[in-house]
Amino acid sequence: MTIPENLQLVRSKLPEHVELVAVSKTKSNEEIMQAYEAGQRVFGENKVQELARKQEELPKDIEWHMIGHLQRNKVKYLASFVSLIHGVDSLKLLREINKQGQKNQRVIPCLLQMHIAMESSKFGLNREELDEILDLEELEHIKLVGLMGMATFTPDMEQVRKEFAFLSSIFEYCQTKRSDFNILSMGMSGDYQIAIEEGSNMVRIGSSIFGARNYQ
Ligand SMILES: *Cc1c(COP(=O)(O)O)cnc(C)c1O
Repeated sequence: MTIPENLQLVRSKLPEHVELVAVSKTKSNEEIMQAYEAGQRVFGENKVQELARKQEELPKDIEWHMIGHLQRNKVKYLASFVSLIHGVDSLKLLREINKQGQKNQRVIPCLLQMHIAMESSKFGLNREELDEILDLEELEHIKLVGLMGMATFTPDMEQVRKEFAFLSSIFEYCQTKRSDFNILSMGMSGDYQIAIEEGSNMVRIGSSIFGARNYQ
């Protein structure tokens, strides 16, 4: 199937309230343009250099999301244009994003990434760190708009469902503390339908749209 056909198929499975982030990491400008011409405007990348290069080379009405782990010393390369940073996993990183937002005279929307106990990734906040950030006075150049999480990489779909349900409950808790919390980013090609059933309203889908990646 072609990229536009895949895109249409994925879209047909998403309820209207669910935003699709097309994950274009490792994919060429030509492949991204095929999705763009089929109407897709929101794309996600996980490497700062690749993201910055594509932003420069591709149409300016694309909304670029940073979905991968972000190092503090690289925030400056995307602060001028990024539409949403998904993986904020420390207060230090949040403060750096705020600083770079100020330099660029903008407010940068961010999602907090929660750590899930069994997940292999070492990134993400625990409950204490989450509370510390939620109780923080507002930083002027960032806006916390929700949560992001990844389920454990396992064929056990009941485990995956439990983890999404757990994230969803934390999201609801955050909403009692923060009125601006409205994005719950969870679900990838292999598990987005479960994620949506458990409350996701933003899915990050790569291989189901663009095909398998050659590396990573
Ligand atoms: C690569 C990636 C995705 C998309 O993965 P697919 O399985 O190709 O849909 C989603 N989220 C993050 C954080 C990723 O790095």
